[in-house]
Amino acid sequence: MSTKLSTGSKTPENRAPLIIAIANQKGGVGKTTTAINLATALAAAGKKTLVVDLDPQGNASTGLGRERGDRDQTSYQVIMGESPLSEAIVATEIPRLALVPSTIDLTGAEVELVTEPQRTYRLRRALRDPVMMQFEYVLIDCPPSLNLLTLNALAAAKSVIVPLQCEFFALEGLSLLLRTIETVQAKFNPGLEIEGILLTMFDGRNNLSGQVATDVRNYLGDKVFHTVIPRNVRISEAPSHGKPALLYDHKCTGSQAYIRLASELLRRERKSRAA
Ligand code: ADP
Ligand code: MG
Repeated sequence: MSTKLSTGSKTPENRAPLIIAIANQKGGVGKTTTAINLATALAAAGKKTLVVDLDPQGNASTGLGRERGDRDQTSYQVIMGESPLSEAIVATEIPRLALVPSTIDLTGAEVELVTEPQRTYRLRRALRDPVMMQFEYVLIDCPPSLNLLTLNALAAAKSVIVPLQCEFFALEGLSLLLRTIETVQAKFNPGLEIEGILLTMFDGRNNLSGQVATDVRNYLGDKVFHTVIPRNVRISEAPSHGKPALLYDHKCTGSQAYIRLASELLRRERKSRAA
């Protein structure tokens, strides 16, 4: 590991981490914001967490304080098999939270992998690394497209969180994504589950926001997280400071919502493990 982490050698339960892809082919719906802040909230709750930045834009890396000039081994090398996962993992300023950064190089991976027979399984294979046993949660921040990178994330994950912006075309985009998830289940990863649909950028003063939230809940029932992320300007300010919102202003409504989301996720996990 290139930077010393404040993680111990093994998870307390000594089992493989829960790998969650954060996906929606639409840009600007809150994927990266969710990856950064849910991961921070999980780490704050004592869970050793890894964020894998799988978007060539590298916004999760920037938002977690990793400068662009300071990304040596990245998700590109990992997915191309040029670097073991352990060498691409770096610590963040948040205890128990580590990162695999990305750079624009990652756009090349799509082209370079297109003729590879096992191209959808590259990330899954790379994540079969003993270093994974140090983590309890792994969040993969996907690019805004249903491309080979997103397919790699969905093929490697146990479940997927779908951030959904409360706006008019939200449901249309959602059905396309749900079809893709079904295809991935059929072809690449039969165990893939929907962890939850997450309503983001909710504006209580806007009737449309409320209507979209109601429609999504009617359509998908308990697949939708109870927690709703409000539109909150503090959340959008945080990345320019290279900090998660939870560190920038932990009291703001957005940070508090991500803390509730982490609790909800942990509660669900405990329940499903007990079942
Ligand atoms: P994606 O990764 O899906 O493209 P981002 O997480 O980057 O989306 O969010 C898109 C933009 O919206 C960013 O500028 C982000 O700071 C902002 N944003 C995300 N969530 C919220 C929120 N709850 N309130 C206000 N702004 C938000
Ligand atoms: Mg993003």
